[in-house]
Parts: sequence; C-alpha cells; structure tokens
Amino acid sequence: MNVPVLKNYTGGKWTAPENHGLLDVERPSTADVIGRVPLSTAAEAGRAIAAARAAFPEWSAVPVSRRCELLRRLADRIRDRSRELAETISRENGKSLPDAEAEVKRSLENAEVACAMPVLQQGDKLHGASPDIDGEVLRVPLGVFGMIAPFNFPLMVPFWFFPYALAAGNTCVVKPSEQVPLCMARVAEFMDTIGFPPGVFNLVHGDGRAGQALLESPDIAGISFVGTSGVGRIVAERCARTGKRFQVFGGAKNHLVAMPDAKMDDMIRNMITSCYGCAGQRCMASSAIVAVGDDVHEEVCGRFVAASREVRVADPLDPEVAGEAMVMGPVISAKAKSFILDMIRTGIDEGATLALDGRNLAVPGCERGHFLGPTVFTGVKPGMKIHRTEIFGPVVVILKADSLDEAIRIINGHEYGNGASIYTQNGYYARRFKLEAQVGMIGINVGIPAPVAQLPFGGMRASLMADTKTQGKAAVNFFTDLKIISERYWRE
Ligand code: NAD
Repeated sequence: MNVPVLKNYTGGKWTAPENHGLLDVERPSTADVIGRVPLSTAAEAGRAIAAARAAFPEWSAVPVSRRCELLRRLADRIRDRSRELAETISRENGKSLPDAEAEVKRSLENAEVACAMPVLQQGDKLHGASPDIDGEVLRVPLGVFGMIAPFNFPLMVPFWFFPYALAAGNTCVVKPSEQVPLCMARVAEFMDTIGFPPGVFNLVHGDGRAGQALLESPDIAGISFVGTSGVGRIVAERCARTGKRFQVFGGAKNHLVAMPDAKMDDMIRNMITSCYGCAGQRCMASSAIVAVGDDVHEEVCGRFVAASREVRVADPLDPEVAGEAMVMGPVISAKAKSFILDMIRTGIDEGATLALDGRNLAVPGCERGHFLGPTVFTGVKPGMKIHRTEIFGPVVVILKADSLDEAIRIINGHEYGNGASIYTQNGYYARRFKLEAQVGMIGINVGIPAPVAQLPFGGMRASLMADTKTQGKAAVNFFTDLKIISERYWRE
C-alpha cells in the first residue's frame, strides 16, 4: 500500500518536511500505517505564522461578503466530498461511519454559520452618547489565530474555529492532532484550490512541539485549544504570559441522572449511544450514571449492563456493519488502550464491582486493533479514582443517589463541568437541574447535549478555560475585538 507522507501548507505552498522525523499514522482498527506525518519544528511553525501575519492586512481589508463567498466554496466542497471525508475520519479515528458522517455535517454547519458574518460582525452606534458626541462600536479582527486540535474530532474541532476566524478577517495556522492528520490535510487541499489568498489559511502538522511554537510566538493574537485539561492548563498559562487571548476546551466526565419517573426503555437506549458512541471518546460522551433511589438504581444497573452486552464491536469500515448507527470501533491507540486497562484494574482495586468486563475482546480479522468491549462498574462511590478520572473509553461507572439534590451534588463536586443530562418527565426536576447543575451543556432526556452550530458550545470549570465558548455568536466574540469610537465635529 502506498503510504502518503503529509506536507505542511504554508503561505499557499506545500512544503516537504524538514529532516526531523516522521510519525506513523495508524489505523486504530488494524494498526496498519496509513500515513506519515511530519513532526514540524518551531522554525517550520514559525514560517507558517509569518505567512499568516503577512497575509493579515490585505485579508482583513477584503469585504466581508467576499470573504464569505470563498467560505461558501469551501462549504460546497465539503458537501460534495462528505462521504470521502467521513471515510477518512472513520479510518484514521476508528469511529463508526454514521458518527463520522455526523461529524462532517456539524463541520459543514459551522462553515455555513460563519458565512453569516456580514450580519454577525455588525457593530453598534449610539447617537448623542454625550453632548454632540456619537459613540460607535466596531467589531474588528485581531490578526493571526493558532488552533490546536485533539484526536477525537479530527474535522469538527478545526471547523469550530477557522471558518469564523477567517470570515471575521483574521488569518490562521491550524495544527491538527498528530494521531489523525489526514482529513484536515484533505481540507487544506480544498483551501488551496478555491481562491483564498496565500497565507490566509495555513496547516502545520506535528506534536506538542509544534503546538508549543504557536503558544510562544509573539505574532499570534489568540489560541483556540481543544484537548486534555492538563495540556490545556499549560496552554492557558503560556497564553496569559505572552499576552494572547485563549479558549481552552479541556477534559470531561459527563453524568447522566436517572430519575424515578424516567421513561426507562427510551432512557436505556439513549444512554447506550451516549456512553459507547465513538468508543466513549466524545468530549460529550457520558461515562457516569447516577440513579436516584434504590429501585431505579437496581433497575438501571440490570438493564444498562444487559443492553451494554448487546453493543456490537467491530471495525467500523467492515461493509457488514458500515451503515449501522450503534457500532463501536476501537479506541485511538495502544497507549490509550493500555491506560483504560489500567483504570479498569484501578476500579477493581478500589472495590467497585466490575459488572461487565470488556477486556479480552477479539474482533476477527482485526487482531492488532485497539478494541475494548463495553465495561461497566457498579457500586461506585463519588471520589473513587474511576469516578474522578476522565477514562475516555467505553467504561461506565454507575453511582446511586438518594435524591436529586445528592445527584446534583455529585455532579457539582466533580472537577469537570462539560455536560450533564437528566432523564425525567417532570418539569420541576428538569428546571432545578438546568439551573443548579454547574455544567456548560445540559440535556433533558438528551444523552449527548452537544448544541447545533448556531448555538454556543462549551463547558464550565476544568472543561473550559476561557471567557467565551465557541460556535455561532460566541465564536464571533472570540475572533473579534471591540473598538469603541467617540466622534465629534465642531460647528463650522
Ligand atoms: P491532548 O491534550 O493529548 O492533545 C491535544 C492537542 O494538543 C494535540 O494536537 C497535541 O499535539 C497538542 N499538544 C500536546 N502537548 C502540547 C503542548 N505542550 N503545547 C501545545 N500543544 C500541545 O488531547 P487528545 O488526547 O488529543 O484529545 C482528547 C482530549 O480532548 C480529551 O480530554 C477530551 O475530553 C478533550 N476534548 C474536549 C472537548 C471539549 O469541548 N471540552 C472537545 C473534544 C475533545
């Protein structure tokens, strides 16, 4: 098989990697090498930043409608190539084809929302702010933005950022995750052919060193980062020290609360897709269930474990399962699998009950793939390591609470606050939950409350270090600054 060696896209040119090493990109289902990604140096990242900086003055002066016209071409290209992109995502990340298709759709949606920039970027005017003085508020671009993406949404995360940044008149340098660089490499090919001026969009491959170069550069105005909270803290600190604005989307441990009046059949079905879609590697995946009351707890434990047993684990590109919505693929890497296996051992040592053990699962024909089966712990207490830690795999912990108050306390006592959902038909419970649960995104009978692109996306506490979320108007806030003008003319 011909294994492509990826190139950076800098200043409108493809640049072959310098001799600093290439990393194999693995297909998680088989461990086959499907690409080689350059580990760019700070100097290579620096050239991309310089190209973006040089392109900024001219690009920011291009009328916003023209900027959006080019973005619409990108959206058209994504729509035309959506199947190919979904297959690439599925191949490099391991998620099911329907999940990959949903990712392409959300990416496209973000590009389309960004095309509303002629409306979104409008400022304000206040006549007579003071005697004979008018006040005016302009929304202006800032310069070059750096974007650092995680492995779990190779396409969608960059699309949370760069379409808004470019539509608002900024230029950018995108660094995809070194584990899943192929689909953004394809997007760079689209960008190359649809008329964007050189340097407006740049793609730099690499690991943390290339990311670090973006953080250090004095020529970058802001950073959008998505990844683990540990790396996110480094990013936030570095940006604060070097005077950049930043938005850091960090880790998560999302809770699902089962109330006594929940519609049990619908709830269990919904919980299964929330917990095991993308092998539990969505930032909005749920991995902790809190059942309220003894009876509900007993029923949820029994039925959730039974339903988990039925989840099909397979290579997502196996034609036999390719169209099925709930197929669980592998986790991203041998390293991720080994961490998850460690956490399962930790749960056993902590005294939780391993009610379903997904270790030792074999997928015929994919013996080298990083597969794990659904795994469920019951008898879990708040504060156990398997409850505190973001395991980021198909491992679910079930806890019991005596009341809604206690369930909310468990959620609010957790370090992360990305999303949480409640299953109930009762408006009083639902209202209290939406007001009191300290998380950024709430679901009421919706197990993955990931908002559409027209609405803001982002968590709270350790799940989001930023002043503003992303998508829609929130992204416009991040990628523009306000300039306030006081204007007076003396009588002739
Ligand atoms: P990661 O932190 O390992 O890597 C993320 C990115 O940071 C990669 O591109 C990596 O190369 C880069 N990087 C690593 N070290 C760096 C450094 N010192 N400086 C700059 N960049 C550096 O995360 P991951 O494993 O790829 O992604 C999974 C994580 O992302 C999970 O914690 C998940 O919850 C989180 N995530 C959160 C959201 C959200 O909305 N909150 C969305 C998606 C993923």
